[in-house]
Amino acid sequence: TESIFNEDSNTKIRNLQIIHEVNIIKNERDRAAAMANLKHDFLANMSHEIRTPMNAIIGFSQLLSSKVNDETLQTYIEAITSSGKSLLGIINDILDLSKIEAGRLSLELESTNIIELFREIQNIFMYKIEEKGLEFIMEIDENLPMGLVLDEVRLRQVLVNLVGNAVKFTESGYIAIKASRVITDIDTSKIDLKIEVVDTGIGIEEGQKENIFKAFIQQSGQSTRKYGGTGLGLAITKRLVEMMNGDIYVENNHPDGSIFVLVIKNVPISSITNDDIQFSDYKINDLNLNDKSILVVDDIEINRKLIKEYFRNFSIEIYEASNGIQATNVAETNKPDLILMDIKMPEMDGYEATSRIRAISGMENVPIIAL
Ligand code: ADP
Repeated sequence: TESIFNEDSNTKIRNLQIIHEVNIIKNERDRAAAMANLKHDFLANMSHEIRTPMNAIIGFSQLLSSKVNDETLQTYIEAITSSGKSLLGIINDILDLSKIEAGRLSLELESTNIIELFREIQNIFMYKIEEKGLEFIMEIDENLPMGLVLDEVRLRQVLVNLVGNAVKFTESGYIAIKASRVITDIDTSKIDLKIEVVDTGIGIEEGQKENIFKAFIQQSGQSTRKYGGTGLGLAITKRLVEMMNGDIYVENNHPDGSIFVLVIKNVPISSITNDDIQFSDYKINDLNLNDKSILVVDDIEINRKLIKEYFRNFSIEIYEASNGIQATNVAETNKPDLILMDIKMPEMDGYEATSRIRAISGMENVPIIAL
């Protein structure tokens, strides 16, 4: 500002105008950020409220499904379950997008093994792929390091999205996922990772290759009845990839089907691989649950009821509490073997209850799982 007063009057006025405009832009940017935050808080609360009854709808229809033999009734139950799941999917997508827009999503980096991740993706879609009679191809560059420092959860989400689309839009042929290292020899402790998802499906029109990454956009003329979806998957995928210091695009010149390419830059090579992690080898049927007890903490009665139903065929004692204070008392008196803990509750929330329960003698190491 000081330098302004050394200028001639016209320049001074112009400079003051610029400062004023910059302030307006700053205010608007702050306002936009505050709005994005508000929107996210609203959506987070709303989705919590929707998720609670949805949980009961899906949970009880699954329980009902195991008890009903009539074929027609089974198709009704399937419709309720799958509609419930698709509604939950939409809620999760909208919430994810708003979280990214509000800058509330941060990456959790860990050592990731691409081969294992690809196998997992294959397992997730195996049933669908076989049902459609498609072939699944996995190609991994042998020069790719075993451990890469990435956000495995978010990369899995990106791949689930891309492979899910590939399966959805392909009726015959194959789905391929490939991983390779882009040759860069500047710094050997980091690599540029390239992942491709290839399919032989309906393909993407030249003019739509960028549009499809926008929220709520699908290829024009596409049958909603046949393919469903909301057009949010790729918008989330693109933003996640950008957060990972990467880029995603649809490869040109592919006549049959589509190729989605994602390149993540400067991925550190990890010295620990998943192979170093030991998994205990137990069989679920060897577990002896007789005379064990579980404390279910949730302020919503129907949620507690659902969990009790899940355990109906086991000789497990179930204790209930509808808030943190009750939970602490029950834990003290009955010393349960496991606690399933809701987070948001009136009187005392799950965090506070957990720290109080941890302070009870004999309860220091009891597993407490957030519901
Ligand atoms: P949704 O799948 O819910 O419609 P997406 O954002 O994941 O939302 O995809 C947006 C659109 O991009 C799809 O509706 C489809 O038109 C197009 N698209 C995505 N993947 C493919 C693919 N593998 N083959 C053909 N079209 C695709």
